[in-house]
Amino acid sequence: MVTMPEMGFLLEFEVMAFLVIVVFLFMRMYRAYRCAHYEVPADDIRKGHRWYMEDIFPEQTYCNISLRKIKHGAKCFSCEICVDDHLMKEANLKIPCKPVSLEGEITYHHWVQGNLPLYSKCYVCTQDCGVQPHICDVRCAWCKRTAHENCKPDNEACDFGEFKTAIVPPDCVQLKWVGFKGRKHLVVEKARKPNIPNWSPVIIVANQQSGNNEGEIILRQFKGTLNSAQVIDLHDIPPENGIEWCHLLPDVKFRLVVCGGDGTVGWVLNVIEKLKLKNPPHVCILPLGTGNDLSRVLGWGEGYTTGDDVHVDQIFRQMNEAKPVCLDRWKVEIKNLKRVMLPKLKYKKISLRGGKVPMQVDGEPWEQSDPADITVTFQSKANMLARM
Ligand SMILES: [Zn+2]
Ligand SMILES: [Zn+2]
Ligand SMILES: [Zn+2]
Repeated sequence: MVTMPEMGFLLEFEVMAFLVIVVFLFMRMYRAYRCAHYEVPADDIRKGHRWYMEDIFPEQTYCNISLRKIKHGAKCFSCEICVDDHLMKEANLKIPCKPVSLEGEITYHHWVQGNLPLYSKCYVCTQDCGVQPHICDVRCAWCKRTAHENCKPDNEACDFGEFKTAIVPPDCVQLKWVGFKGRKHLVVEKARKPNIPNWSPVIIVANQQSGNNEGEIILRQFKGTLNSAQVIDLHDIPPENGIEWCHLLPDVKFRLVVCGGDGTVGWVLNVIEKLKLKNPPHVCILPLGTGNDLSRVLGWGEGYTTGDDVHVDQIFRQMNEAKPVCLDRWKVEIKNLKRVMLPKLKYKKISLRGGKVPMQVDGEPWEQSDPADITVTFQSKANMLARM
């Protein structure tokens, strides 16, 4: 027989169990929803600049707040202002960063004072600028034009300079807040096509830990040139979120730059295939670290390693000149494998029907030397073929 207090306890227990199940189911549904809905994340620039610390600044670097010469301190990788270590908060309040999104249909030059590159010329009067031994003159964070303080026009629309076809102008981007209280973040809600001929914007996907941390340097450099919403760090979010740009602007041909090795490129190509896009992006490779067979075969080079300077401008120029090629991808499944003694093969050829295009097998690129043959250059792959 159950007494009254015991009944109350059972009821409470049932209610609690019911609530736990409801919360659990809700979280499962929310996670499933999040996995099926990808969104392009955007920085909240009202929080201030995107800082990184520099141990040694180049000679003649001046603080944008104290205006004094500094040897080390913090630099914003988006608008490139430099400040003394202890002046970051003040800079966040006083100097606006390069915007991700803007209201209206025009983006004006975003002038940043001082620290101009060597041999800068004023685009208005064509004379040298930035040469005084103190913080002086300005540079646009978008088009990179430099000008004398007195020459710079205040309300001139920025045309985004040499790499205008790669940049998503902030006036074409509309943001919205998503997520629950405490975990709210900004994402791109809508985007429109700017009036730029041959516009083919670039999306960068890189893992900040790729190579020997070259990934981090590259992500920073691309954010300095592009709209920061175009740069996706695979360390924090999957490539699907970056490729979501292709859904936001389905009629635009995007260029997706994958920074990393064969594994990363294979992963991103699988994602593009899985998403079944109406207008899939062209894929460019920026090889990092070792294991860059696909990049080498396609002509993007052997790979950047520690100490190599990555010249983002040069990469954009190479992308503008690159010709798209098709890539065959296929997966080999091996079943009922018998253990066999293998000869020490250096290479092996197999015959295939098909055109003369580079090939990729389950993430690994194979060099093709003849329309009907594949040359396998590595022992591991030779072994795999010999077993077949
Ligand atoms: Zn900034
Ligand atoms: Zn400009
Ligand atoms: Zn001038």
